[in-house]
Amino acid sequence: MERTLAPHKRIALVAHDHKKEELLQWAIANRQKLLQHRLYATGTTGTILEKTLGQSIHKLLSGPLGGDQQIGVMIAEEKLDILIFFWDPMEAQPHDPDVKALLRLSATYNLPVACNAATADFLFTSPFMTSEYHAVQTDYSTYLKRKLPETNL
Ligand code: PGA
Repeated sequence: MERTLAPHKRIALVAHDHKKEELLQWAIANRQKLLQHRLYATGTTGTILEKTLGQSIHKLLSGPLGGDQQIGVMIAEEKLDILIFFWDPMEAQPHDPDVKALLRLSATYNLPVACNAATADFLFTSPFMTSEYHAVQTDYSTYLKRKLPETNL
């Protein structure tokens, strides 16, 4: 089983508040490459990225208000190809469960994720950024057909 990522990627960008400056700097350095793809971002991240890149970005809700979960839905529904997620390792977030859920779904569907600028650099210099890529998918059919505990219904 696999998922095909087209040459023109759907990329979501998210940065926690103390990581927003770092993401902006990375986005400026990678502007030309970023603009070749379709960009999504959580609300606040998207607003500052739009100003910085001079390009409109599809903005979701602010992360703590459901934006991270919206990205999770996109991953589960095969509507996202890459996640750039600069999360803050030094500060607990009010939406920590959403942050964990997003990383978990990325692992579930073998979605390329960069959690820091170095990984984002490696990702964006990959030839797969501008070509088709076949991401191997775990077969969850056994899980879906699992035997449930007996019920009285
Ligand atoms: P924000 O959300 O871009 O709306 O600040 C980021 C996050 O998930 O914390």
